[in-house]
Amino acid sequence: MVKIDQKLAQELAENARKVAIPGKGILAADESTGTIKKRFDNIGVENTEPNRAAYRELLFKTKGMGQYISGCILFEETLYQKTATGESMVELLKAEGVLPGIKVDKGIVPLPLSDGETATQGLDGLGKRCAEYYQAGARFAKWRAVLQIDAAMGKPSNLSIQETAHTLARYAAICQENGLVPIVEPEILADGSHDIDVCADATERTLAAVFKALNDHHVLLEGALLKPNMVTPGNEFKGGMKHDEVAFYTIRTLKRTVPPALPGIMFLSGGQSEEDASLNLNAMNQMGPHPWQLSFSYGRALQASVLKKWIGEAKNVPAAQATFLERAKANGEAQLGKYSGGAGGKEAAGSLFEKKYVY
Ligand code: 13P
Repeated sequence: MVKIDQKLAQELAENARKVAIPGKGILAADESTGTIKKRFDNIGVENTEPNRAAYRELLFKTKGMGQYISGCILFEETLYQKTATGESMVELLKAEGVLPGIKVDKGIVPLPLSDGETATQGLDGLGKRCAEYYQAGARFAKWRAVLQIDAAMGKPSNLSIQETAHTLARYAAICQENGLVPIVEPEILADGSHDIDVCADATERTLAAVFKALNDHHVLLEGALLKPNMVTPGNEFKGGMKHDEVAFYTIRTLKRTVPPALPGIMFLSGGQSEEDASLNLNAMNQMGPHPWQLSFSYGRALQASVLKKWIGEAKNVPAAQATFLERAKANGEAQLGKYSGGAGGKEAAGSLFEKKYVY
């Protein structure tokens, strides 16, 4: 087995632990230019570079966010971006003690000759890009693979699972060689009317394959993080979602597949409402202690209400920041199993689901 350089291994493990620290989680603010356009369209804001900068500045200048946020994933543009007054986005994060991360995948394309399943692009030239991102201040990375559930069509297919596992492992090894902690994200979409058992089965098969591939590729688990979907019923399942049930099935699946050497599991929110995402995480942590930190790496579930408060107007920035801090605090508490619910009121309870979600 090829051994990773000891100094590099130590740095990776330290940074992974810094992100997966009790009481904190990740803000996923790495929406691509196309995805942030969808967010801005909802609130009537034009998708220009200055508007994207103004929005990310709003988030990163939220005083006190570092109490609940340990890491922030950026889109490439933001890693090199400055505010209107010339401050670097990376420095704003560092001032709050937040570790900057970078989305390194190049999005999904159809998996040829499959039944509409997908593959993630971005391995070509990835080593060089990782080295540049490290120079620019990034210390961890994200790569999102996407799988679908459709029991009648046999999805996720074995092909889709093998493609996901292999590509995530190649990505993770390339990141580690270049000093970035890889967040390994095999997202199984919530589209469908299936029950929770079907999701549990698909998630278990996928995670088992992913961790086998990570081992085959000599990835240092102590210096890596997992970003999975929670195990939930499909979004069109008639029986609804119960937090205790989601927690039970998710933990059972993780215990069967994820080695305790991994420091942290940082869930995506996957279209859950802000409040459901917090309550599910809380329910899981109340069932602890667990072998890993169970935390959040939410995009929509940390930002939906913030965007609605902001609507592109400078005068709304303080209110939008207060909303962001409230949601971050709720999730920080949920990481400790101490969230009592109710943050954000009714507005935080609306579904954020999008069909066949593209990030
Ligand atoms: P959501 O939390 O909105 O699902 O997105 C998180 C993410 O980073 C997806 O890759």
